[in-house]
Amino acid sequence: MNTIIFGAPGSGKGTYASRLKTRLGVEVISMGDIFREFIKNESELGLKVKQYVEKGLLIPNEIVIEVLREKISKLTSGKGVILDGYPRTIPQAKVLQEIVKIDVILLQNVPDWIIIERLSSRRICEKCNEVYNIRFLKPSIENICDKCGGALYQRPDDTADVIKKRIQLYQKMTSPIIKYYEEKKTPFIISQIEDPNIGPEQVVENVIKELKIRNLI
Ligand SMILES: [Zn+2]
Repeated sequence: MNTIIFGAPGSGKGTYASRLKTRLGVEVISMGDIFREFIKNESELGLKVKQYVEKGLLIPNEIVIEVLREKISKLTSGKGVILDGYPRTIPQAKVLQEIVKIDVILLQNVPDWIIIERLSSRRICEKCNEVYNIRFLKPSIENICDKCGGALYQRPDDTADVIKKRIQLYQKMTSPIIKYYEEKKTPFIISQIEDPNIGPEQVVENVIKELKIRNLI
């Protein structure tokens, strides 16, 4: 089962993707991570990517596709993939169809006020960048990273005004893509409207229930 996860910054989509990975045995492909990985490996493709990143240029579609194709061909679990951060445009969505059959679109619809509240309670480890939330994903010891013992800090742009702008940008970018998928019969779209009183565990359970109903897992 191949999935694309969409969600505004602060919708928690990264958290859901990694929880679904654990539950379903699928792999998560986050575009940002892949580019970093390719650059680090200094493969031929990685060097191409690096040129664009260093100049602050947008990586051209054909290179993104090449990277994605290579990554998908190396997946070993056979259980499918969750794409996070891709596609970002309709042309990308169209090319994606040629690489992989998408079965599910997961939309994390979170009311703006929850995102604002969540991002302003977000804390990040200064050493390993692990993300915590002092409401939903607390570290075991206050302000200390569970993984590496580093100190947690708050990003300076996690303020209401900046967050609102990021949400607007996200909506402008993704709404045409979501419309594009809505007009097709597959993939199946699961739209989660988040209830502020439920934690990520319950959200993941709800998604799994939907997938079972549709015989996708
Ligand atoms: Zn850490």
